[in-house]
Amino acid sequence: MSESAELAQIRQAVRGLCADFPGEYWRALDRERAYPDEFVAALTKAGFLAALIPEEYGGSGLTMSAAVAIMEEIQASGCNGAACHAQMYTMGTLLRHGSAEQKARYLPPIARGELRLQAFGVTEPTSGTDTLSLRTTAMRDGAHYVVNGQKIWTSRAEHSDLMLLLARTTAREQAKSRTGGLSVFIVDMRQAKGHGLTVRPIRTMMNHATTEVFFEDMRVPADNLIGNEGEGFRYILSGLNAERILVAAECIGDAKWFINKAAAYAGERVVFGRPIGQNQGVQFPIARSYIAMRAAELMVHEAAALYEAGKECGAEANMAKHLAAEASWAAADMCVQTHGGFGFAEEFDIERKFRETRLYTVAPISTNLVLSYIAEHVLGLPRSY
Ligand SMILES: Cc1cc2nc3c(=O)[nH]c(=O)nc-3n(C[C@H](O)[C@H](O)[C@H](O)COP(=O)(O)OP(=O)(O)OC[C@H]3O[C@@H](n4cnc5c(N)ncnc54)[C@H](O)[C@@H]3O)c2cc1C
Repeated sequence: MSESAELAQIRQAVRGLCADFPGEYWRALDRERAYPDEFVAALTKAGFLAALIPEEYGGSGLTMSAAVAIMEEIQASGCNGAACHAQMYTMGTLLRHGSAEQKARYLPPIARGELRLQAFGVTEPTSGTDTLSLRTTAMRDGAHYVVNGQKIWTSRAEHSDLMLLLARTTAREQAKSRTGGLSVFIVDMRQAKGHGLTVRPIRTMMNHATTEVFFEDMRVPADNLIGNEGEGFRYILSGLNAERILVAAECIGDAKWFINKAAAYAGERVVFGRPIGQNQGVQFPIARSYIAMRAAELMVHEAAALYEAGKECGAEANMAKHLAAEASWAAADMCVQTHGGFGFAEEFDIERKFRETRLYTVAPISTNLVLSYIAEHVLGLPRSY
């Protein structure tokens, strides 16, 4: 089967699955800020969340382009992949830098859906975007590391068995390099909860299951260190490109949802005796959104192609996330405007998707930080921070 035929089949299968989770399902969860357990279970059962796990570990062994198609279709169907997208991108750190023993221990049960790796603990309240100044420490004590500190915005921590944690193992001033001294661990939260790990939910403007996490003498077996001590920042960075590409794909899906919804409504809604979509003042913002979405989509595909060819894709992954997040947010705004008052009514799902897609110009990396990456690393401008 040609790759595009395979991707078309994946898209169709995801759409079929998502059809069982219509707007009412998401609205009810949104009201309660409840986790979409049934949706995540269905995606897991269908093997979609194991897309990037190689077949030798029981996964589907698919490409980044396939993962992009999966995430995009979830969003374009009106569902919310944020409930589970992390499993796709955190995997990269374990796959590329984990030991053979760690991969054999964790990947098969993750692929079977018995273990969830959905939590990614990087951001801290005081360090924010400046990851290198994070303060959570992991100190070696015999066969363990003892972790103390705090993370914030650790999404899905209540719905995950494992967390990928970035902590400082060597004081900043003693580290060999500017980026050295940080290490990555797999934390088994099932064992750690109540033994030094506390998770507290944070209520946000959308249903995102995000939390703050506190570590107080939490013991992590030294076997759970990924790769070499002190090199964690490098390992995490390699996974961030995957995260940016997949989040960009979700934004493309959101933009498609808003554009389709707006075009359909503009064709049906009759005011002053004609469909509102007959007015160019209504048509043009929809057309503009479509053009922006298609341009961003090209960059997402370019970034995914580079990623799966094992080539450097930092600039493309950042630009894809930036363009796609801007396109989805603009499409969301356009969709509300096209619907007039009905854009605000819960039952149209627009206000919910509007709130959900707003996140992506801030997280996983905010617009300014993408711009400074391009300015510094692509254009050679002086470093600003
Ligand atoms: C709902 C949600 C879920 C999240 N999930 C996770 C998760 O699962 N795991 C995780 O680790 N993190 C997660 N995050 C954190 C997210 O990655 C950060 O919020 C994001 O990277 C921005 O960091 P900050 O909030 O600390 O903002 P800050 O770093 O405090 O920045 C605030 C503003 O200042 C700007 N700014 C800062 N420094 C500069 C500069 N030098 N030049 C120009 N502008 C600058 C930023 O662009 C931003 O607009 C999540 C966040 C949210 C809101």
